Amino acid sequence: MSHRPPYRCGAARGVTAAWIPAVCTLLTALTAGGSPLVPDPEVFLEKYGYLHQDNHIHDAAEMQSAISDFQWLSRLPITGELDSATLRQMAEPRCGVSDEVSQQIWAHRVNSILTGKGSAVRHRRRRSVKAEKWYKRHLTYQIVNWPRHLSVSSVRLAVQAAFQLWSNVSGLVFQEALEGPADIRLAFYDGDHNDGSSNAFDGPGGTLAHAFLPRRGEAHFDIAERWTLNGHKGHNLFIVTAHEIGHTLGLEHSPVRHALMSPYYRKLGRSLVLSWDDIIAVQQLYGKPSGDRPVRLPGQVLHATLHEWESTELHSGHQTAGQPLYCQGVFDAITMDHNKTVLVFRGSVYWTVSAENGVKGPLPLRQRWSDLPPAIEAAAFSPLDSKWYFFKGKRMWRYTGSVLDPSFPRKSSELGLPHHPDCAFFYAPLGHMVVFKGSRYSVLNLQTLHQEPYYPRRLTDWTGVPQGTNGALTRPDGRLYLFREQRFWRFDPIKVRVTREGQWAKDLSWTGCSNAPQGNNIL
Ligand SMILES: [Zn+2]
Ligand SMILES: [Zn+2]
Repeated sequence: MSHRPPYRCGAARGVTAAWIPAVCTLLTALTAGGSPLVPDPEVFLEKYGYLHQDNHIHDAAEMQSAISDFQWLSRLPITGELDSATLRQMAEPRCGVSDEVSQQIWAHRVNSILTGKGSAVRHRRRRSVKAEKWYKRHLTYQIVNWPRHLSVSSVRLAVQAAFQLWSNVSGLVFQEALEGPADIRLAFYDGDHNDGSSNAFDGPGGTLAHAFLPRRGEAHFDIAERWTLNGHKGHNLFIVTAHEIGHTLGLEHSPVRHALMSPYYRKLGRSLVLSWDDIIAVQQLYGKPSGDRPVRLPGQVLHATLHEWESTELHSGHQTAGQPLYCQGVFDAITMDHNKTVLVFRGSVYWTVSAENGVKGPLPLRQRWSDLPPAIEAAAFSPLDSKWYFFKGKRMWRYTGSVLDPSFPRKSSELGLPHHPDCAFFYAPLGHMVVFKGSRYSVLNLQTLHQEPYYPRRLTDWTGVPQGTNGALTRPDGRLYLFREQRFWRFDPIKVRVTREGQWAKDLSWTGCSNAPQGNNIL
């Protein structure tokens, strides 16, 4: 693949087609709006197989055709133009496997359902397409290395469940091979990892993982993602593993809404994990399961199971000498109450840290705040009204003590707040609640429960504060502490900038972790 300069608006790149000015306008608009970085559309279309990578200049007709194909697979209105919906879709987190033959393979699949017979598909550009497959039904797999912040046992169970999704509906059987050779290997890598520059991982977001068609038997995951298993912020490792396994079995991307083999990341929801299209695709290669009927698992069953695993782990004594479990991992939210007790939230539990009582927990969230869902995304105690505020998804909960206030939870959109906030905290200099989300922040007036005028504003107002923090609180001295994974940033409200940063578990004794041994990633 040729080296390309980074895309710049107005830069002459030899392409004079009319789509360039439109792209520039949209890119500017999207970036100003705080959306994720939009990739260079031409590079994107080459990377994912919609345009040749042979170093010639693509004319307007080629671009239009490539954009239309992309819109078809992405279930967007087919306009052939780089409209804002198309550019947004290009920035969505996705699988790194090319979409090149997906359309042909899918047309073939549907055709063979309708006519009852199969035939070789002729790829309109280069070659006839025939699905690659394994010529045996019993396959072994191996997890080569492990992601950060997840325990070995929960990753192993999630991978096992992901394989089982496919064996439930096909003639395949999978077995983990702890050592020695294995048919399918799963590994976590950072950046370029020696399978071609176009396969290099790109850090958080963007490409999450990729895998090779049979019979190479490799699935690679971007180790820089925040992998999760239980609704924490980040990307669900189970769902991405299940998708990549589909590729290792010979499946291409699907245009079907809700298909697991759709190229885009989706959350583990209530619906069935495998769609009819995923099942037909795997059965066309390997036949039906030998049992009576295929077992299809809905997402909520798996979600409950993953949740169980985590609760079991939390209570099964994984703690290292005197150190709470959250110290070496990622927490969901953090705040401090009127007694200067720090509360750390993770999954369905929380811990309290105070000078008098030290660390207590894990304590069940629901015991103190009934009706609060697990894995909240932000929490803040407000000294203004002595109330607790919790955020998750599209809603906000407010409690007085342990009692949910009437008419709560309320929709965040009604309050003018974003969905899925990064963190929330009461900020005395403003006298209001502040909510961070991506490149912006909102300010909520707690008396009117409406966003203050002229907000949201850009996060750059908070000099030195990074995007994507997972918690924040104000200490008794008035300084604000922000957390992202293992790091913290201390923001001084008088100097209006970050004045210190470091490793919170090691440097901040009030987190209850400071005498903790370092270098252990297990949570
Ligand atoms: Zn994929
Ligand atoms: Zn790779």
